[in-house]
Amino acid sequence: MEWEEMAVNGWHHADWMRADGLIARRMARIVGARDHEVAVSGTLTGNLHMLMASFYKPAGARTKILMEGTCFPSDRYAASSQIAWHGLDPQEHLISPESTTSTEDILYTIEREGDRVALVLVAGLNYLSGEVLDMAAITGAARDAGCKVGLDLAHAAGNVPMQLHDWEVDFAAWCGYKYLNGGPGAPGAFFVHEDHHHDDLDRLAGWWGHNLESRFQMPPEFAPSKGAAGWLTSTPPVLGLAPLEASTALFEEVGMERLTEKSTRLTAYLDALVRLRLPGDVEIVTPASRGAQLSLRVSGGRRVFENLQTLGVICDWREPDIIRVAPAPFYNSFGDLIQFADRLQEAIREAA
Ligand SMILES: *Cc1c(COP(=O)(O)O)cnc(C)c1O
Repeated sequence: MEWEEMAVNGWHHADWMRADGLIARRMARIVGARDHEVAVSGTLTGNLHMLMASFYKPAGARTKILMEGTCFPSDRYAASSQIAWHGLDPQEHLISPESTTSTEDILYTIEREGDRVALVLVAGLNYLSGEVLDMAAITGAARDAGCKVGLDLAHAAGNVPMQLHDWEVDFAAWCGYKYLNGGPGAPGAFFVHEDHHHDDLDRLAGWWGHNLESRFQMPPEFAPSKGAAGWLTSTPPVLGLAPLEASTALFEEVGMERLTEKSTRLTAYLDALVRLRLPGDVEIVTPASRGAQLSLRVSGGRRVFENLQTLGVICDWREPDIIRVAPAPFYNSFGDLIQFADRLQEAIREAA
């Protein structure tokens, strides 16, 4: 409609120019950041690369990247390729042992190897186990050890409350299509702490990061916008932003506090239902520090998952033996969970 009537003038008359900034400010409230610390653009893995260009600077004895052992594969590929791009061997410079999965393991590794680590890059909420790591403690320990710290918040943004600014996280990135409900392939977002807005950090620049006052005069020298927006590079995907505009308006209306309250109760209810109704058949892998997710290890494995699909329950299978269930507070009710427990019971019975 706007395109039909205004064509290119829509950038100025239909607010397309301001759409990403509006969503960024709402996202800032979702992750506990100041308005100018968040920008919306790109997608997660690309944004991690872009941020590592500024924040992963191997030098002297401090060359390594520390990640949790069960990090999402894309993050590992990204970090390994960054290491190789700096002319270093990922085998040697990526610390990501299988055992480094929980907060304590990561803190212990920082204590032991921190002076050789340039960047600690961990997920705030582990996609496989559903554990929420102690992001404040990890950030504090990493900073004390002289490391930069970046968080992947793919499963944390819009799911659990965070205070990225107060915790002094250096940078973070997340996608718009998980708990933020932006739809398949929605644009992602990133955070750059205010402390770095005036640093002379290297960055991979593009015209959308140039300050708005002179962006369209197209000067030959790059002069970045203040704040995270200075890391933007390209024209925002306005069509892709539309669902995020709608979904972040709902977050704004409800607020993370109320959402978290319902989420906590829903997940606790699911946990209790599973324990009461299916003792012995189901192991809850997710620890008490969690968001709207339970990872279940079920006797009968993949067959149970397939039966659940047939019974109309959409959840998620991860090799070799994990079923992930996400009682998202925006659109799941307590009644849904009772139905889920009934069907899980049936799915297990049929698989036996
Ligand atoms: C979902 C997810 C991704 C996906 O990244 P894209 O670049 O958006 O495809 C990356 N990392 C983690 C931890 C994820 O959960």
